[in-house]
Amino acid sequence: MPELPEVETVRRAIAPALEGRTLEHVVINDIRLTRPEDPLAVAAELTGERVEHVDRRGKYLIVRFASGRALLIHLRMTGSLLRDPVGTSHLRALVRLDDGSEVGYRDVRRFGTWLLLEPGELEPYLGARVGEEPLVAAFTAKGLGERLEGRKAPLKAALLDQRTLAGLGNIYVDEALWYARLHPLRPARSLDRDELRRLHRAIRKALELGIARQGSTLTDYRLPDGSSGSMQKEFKAYGRLDEPCDRCGTPLEKIRVGGRGTWFCPNCQRLD
Ligand SMILES: [Zn+2]
Repeated sequence: MPELPEVETVRRAIAPALEGRTLEHVVINDIRLTRPEDPLAVAAELTGERVEHVDRRGKYLIVRFASGRALLIHLRMTGSLLRDPVGTSHLRALVRLDDGSEVGYRDVRRFGTWLLLEPGELEPYLGARVGEEPLVAAFTAKGLGERLEGRKAPLKAALLDQRTLAGLGNIYVDEALWYARLHPLRPARSLDRDELRRLHRAIRKALELGIARQGSTLTDYRLPDGSSGSMQKEFKAYGRLDEPCDRCGTPLEKIRVGGRGTWFCPNCQRLD
C-alpha cells in the first residue's frame, strides 16, 4: 500500500500537470471509486473545476479547486495517477484537461476512493482521521512523546494508527523502528526521552529516504510517468526475514503485530 513517501512522490509528479488547469471532461467508470455517490454525478460535478493546488495529508492526495471544493483521493492498495495514460489497463477514471493532456486513475484491486468535498468540509474530515505530519518542522520528539503517552498498545500498532502520525504504514514503521533500535512490541508509553528522540529522528530518516528514492515498488505502485521507485533496495528490516542485520549481522526475524507482518533485528531491537 502506498504510504507517505509514495503518495508524496505521486503528488510531486502529478501537480505540475494539474495545477492551473481546468477539468474539461471527466469519465469515472467504476462505481466503487466514488461510492456511495454516483460516479456519473461526481464526474459531472468535477467538470469545469479549475485546479489550484495538489496537496497531501498523510496518505491522502488533495486536489484543491479554485471554487473551494476539494477532491480527496486515497490510493489504498494499488491506485495510481498517470499522465497521458494511453493504452493503460485497469483505468477507473480519465480526466481531460484544458491544455488537451490527460490524467488517468489506474487501480488494479479497486480499493482506492475519490471523495468530492464542498468548501469547509475538508479540514473537519481530515482532522478526525489523521494526526500530525511527521515531516513538518512543528513535529518534535516531545510532541511524539505526548501522542504516545499513556498508550498500552505496542509501538508498531500505535504508529500505524493514522491519528498518531499521518502517513506511516507497515513498511516505514518497520524501517523507522529498525533505525531507532526499538522493538515493535514495546508498549508505546514506555519510551524514555532518549528513545523518543531516536524514534523521532528515525521516522523522518525513513520517510525522507523513501521520498528521495521515489517510494518503494512492491506490486503495482507506479509513478505518474509509468516509472517506479527504488526504496525497496534500501530496506533495512521490511521483508528481510533471515537476512543479516546491516548493523550487527544477526538474522532478522518476523513476527505479527496487530495482524501485520513485522520484521526486526532481535539483537539491536530488544524488548527488555
Ligand atoms: Zn541488528
